[in-house]
Amino acid sequence: MNHKTRENLNRTEEIEAVYKRFSRTGLWRLRIRRYIRSVTWFLAVFIASVSKRGFDFFVSLVLLLLFSPVIVLGWLVTGRSLARTPRLGKWCVTFDELSFDIHKGLGGKITKLLHIRRLPVLINILRGDMSFVGPLPASPGDFSLQEKAVRKRYNVRPGIISLWWIRKRANIDYGTELDVDMEYVQKHSLVSDLGICLRAIPAILYGEGVPTAPDKLKILGISIDNYTMNEAIDTIINWLHEPSGRQICFVNADCANIAYKNSHYLKVLNYSNLCFADGVGLKLAGKLLGQDIAQNVNGTDMFPLLCKKLDQTNLKLFLLGARQEVVEGVADWVEKNYPNLKLAGHHHGYFTPEEQPAVIQKIKDSGAHLLLVAFGAPRQDLWINEHLDETNAKVAIGVGGLFDFYSGRIPRAPVWMREIGMEWLYRLLQEPGRLWKRYLIGNGIFLSRVIWEKFFPKNRD
Ligand code: UDP
Repeated sequence: MNHKTRENLNRTEEIEAVYKRFSRTGLWRLRIRRYIRSVTWFLAVFIASVSKRGFDFFVSLVLLLLFSPVIVLGWLVTGRSLARTPRLGKWCVTFDELSFDIHKGLGGKITKLLHIRRLPVLINILRGDMSFVGPLPASPGDFSLQEKAVRKRYNVRPGIISLWWIRKRANIDYGTELDVDMEYVQKHSLVSDLGICLRAIPAILYGEGVPTAPDKLKILGISIDNYTMNEAIDTIINWLHEPSGRQICFVNADCANIAYKNSHYLKVLNYSNLCFADGVGLKLAGKLLGQDIAQNVNGTDMFPLLCKKLDQTNLKLFLLGARQEVVEGVADWVEKNYPNLKLAGHHHGYFTPEEQPAVIQKIKDSGAHLLLVAFGAPRQDLWINEHLDETNAKVAIGVGGLFDFYSGRIPRAPVWMREIGMEWLYRLLQEPGRLWKRYLIGNGIFLSRVIWEKFFPKNRD
């Protein structure tokens, strides 16, 4: 077959295909296909929107039936009335949130003990005023409705469990409630709601924090500064403007275990200008000792927040520690995400004692205000204690494995794992060979030491 004949044949086939497509049966086939596509799309949207409401309706109905004797009893005891708190619901429609109006006497004590004061809220959920999961219910006037972002908060029904509530209990409530609510509004689905319900279980076990936590507390002889993340960052930024150098440490369960045996490290921690409580181990220790930790103030969460602040100033940052490619990776991350931040320089953490003077000189010459040292504990904190004055830095912080995260060498645990206090498990699964002893045995030893010290306090002064 020559070239021309093949071309003619192809054209005939094309013409036949067009005829077939636009023939009576072809057009019907096209219509049916479009119809099926529209129905599938409509069903998907419908299922997505009603599934959440359906879940709320059926679960609240079952729970109401289950707890109906308690609700009826409470209603009778309170003189057949329930407390009503005005709230703003979906699309800013007002409704009354129901609860038991029992605060005093035996009834008050029982409702408080059993945590059932808010039980009638199930009626609100059944009625569709509220959901199980959503931003916490706000009263009219709590948020200014002038802002568009705030109004978006009301695109969904308020809930009895919110992401903010979970993060508050997990001590990782950085930022504002509105930011976290917006995160929920933008990403929520029935599956994510079920995940939030599951994460609420450890949040309930963690219990509510004491609103006025002490400024300072002692855990296994370590003097901890009980700051929130914002307080810590503000203090660091202020200190960067002052002439003298200051040392800051993060203390997690592993650090406390090391300090328990290493008296020099313990002294360095206690001589440092600030010592922050890092991780769920310290949170649990605080709970056991009856002194709530204000927030999980750790280097990894602090770093981007600090960079954001430094980005608006002329203050310089120096990165010291980890392998060459890792510290370079962090420098790249900083340059990419905070282009105005003045990076004074960086150096890896595997230098010899002979190379040390040159490294210190490099930091000094760079004019760095803030020095982050990532050698792991306790080496980094002992090093800062010894060499801070020589570097001329105004604040030096030991930051452990932080560089490994921001260089991308090790991925950080997803937020949901941090919300349930399981970041350590994620790290353990990444490097089981190196970390099993630190986490599987170390965490238990740390908590047993805390419990022991609670009942048999040691006089360390
Ligand atoms: N490191 C270093 N020099 C050394 C030993 C370790 O720079 O001589 C670095 C190592 O590359 C890693 C960090 O110190 O980036 C230690 O991380 P680790 O996970 O042990 O710290 P943690 O957060 O557990 O204290």
